[in-house]
Amino acid sequence: MLRIGLVMLQGARHAHIAAIEAASSRSGIMVEIHEIRKLSDLQSSDPQALVLPGGESTTMRLTGLDEASNLLPGLFQWIRDRPTLPVLGTCAGAILLSDPQDGGYPLVDARIDRNAYGRQSDSFQDTLYSPLLGCDFPGVFIRAPRFISHDAEISAMHGDEVVGVRTGNVVALTFHPELSGDPGFHVWLLESAKEAFQ
Ligand code: GLN
Repeated sequence: MLRIGLVMLQGARHAHIAAIEAASSRSGIMVEIHEIRKLSDLQSSDPQALVLPGGESTTMRLTGLDEASNLLPGLFQWIRDRPTLPVLGTCAGAILLSDPQDGGYPLVDARIDRNAYGRQSDSFQDTLYSPLLGCDFPGVFIRAPRFISHDAEISAMHGDEVVGVRTGNVVALTFHPELSGDPGFHVWLLESAKEAFQ
């Protein structure tokens, strides 16, 4: 049974639960999902993989720095201290991983620009290619950020544009795989955790 930590600061959390469950049935890897709201949740569950959902990164920084939660920046340091821990950050989660703002180095080697596609009305869906999964993937972009530059492996491309990066076992995607109906990236997360921990 793998312990999967889902960061619950704000945003698209419940769709990730469904995607993790779909990935578990597809891969046959049994999971137990731990909701991470406070630093103490992280410490007590000691997850073997982590998901940072999308939503609103400014709100996440506020709730995550609140005394009651105290989750950020402990979460970032937790990831830095565990180089093989598989982490999937989507959209606002990718913003936090690329730009943790805690004085430490970014969790993926990339620079990111928030809301770079424009407003809510500029949200879109299109087919991507993922070198990480080795196949096409349905991309759902909601007020998505854009990578300005990166020195990381590419995990997803939209045409000529890099929309997913990977540094070590940390993957940051500017889109929402949990809303696509395809649990491919969540399967990657579970398989990587299985490889790292079992
Ligand atoms: N624009 C949001 C932010 O800046 C990210 C959007 C999303 O996660 N769907 O945090």
